[in-house]
Amino acid sequence: MEGLGALPQPNARPKAVILFGPPGSGKGTQAKLLEKCLHTPNISTGDMLREHIEADDDLGREVRAVMQAGLLVPDDLVNRLVENRSEKDDAANGFILDGYPRTLQQAAALGKMLEARGWTPVVIHLKVDYNEIVTRLAGGRRQCPLCGTLYNLSTNPPKVDLICDLDGTGLVARPDDSGDVIRKRLEEYESQTRPLLDFFKRSGYPYHEVDGSKGAPLAIAGEICSLVAGNS
Ligand code: AMP
Repeated sequence: MEGLGALPQPNARPKAVILFGPPGSGKGTQAKLLEKCLHTPNISTGDMLREHIEADDDLGREVRAVMQAGLLVPDDLVNRLVENRSEKDDAANGFILDGYPRTLQQAAALGKMLEARGWTPVVIHLKVDYNEIVTRLAGGRRQCPLCGTLYNLSTNPPKVDLICDLDGTGLVARPDDSGDVIRKRLEEYESQTRPLLDFFKRSGYPYHEVDGSKGAPLAIAGEICSLVAGNS
């Protein structure tokens, strides 16, 4: 993709790129852009769970209320989802993790999985100011229900009002992007997910901080791509 120059080294070990940051930091947008420069799939636990809810299957019915309340779903359930998805052929050369791990238990499960495969984790911490996050989540975030592309009506609008640029589908707001639920999701991040930063540091994972509040999404993705390519 234009503007995303860095490519993985041909002989590099497969990498698990962990996109880390609070809700609204841009993990989803970055994960989708990074797929194009890293040539590895994006594994988004949030998207996978929403697909189950959409399909109204057993798993979807199990997690719907928890997600709508802004709480985290059980560790074993997401660990299983990621493990199964990561075994697909397209993930043989690595993958990008959007929204996983989110608890110490998940981080430990992922650590074991990567160690067994001899893969290298790389943590990208997307840092965005708290007030900016609240504005982003409460103020006009929209998603294409078909391809998952994310927009923001004020900072990153679609070309045609409320229509996905890529496939023409009408955009929707996420039901958990409102009022108290936003507050709950941010509380979950602070209490359960932020502590992972210490875990990553203790584990010696390559770790990079990226300013997720400045610059166009494409420029931020270019920076991340170069950082990941540098950790061969
Ligand atoms: P996201 O799309 O990443 O913001 O996730 C939306 C919701 O899905 C979260 O608020 C949680 O309810 C659930 N979820 C996604 N990923 C995880 C995870 N790794 N662990 C637990 N719950 C998750």
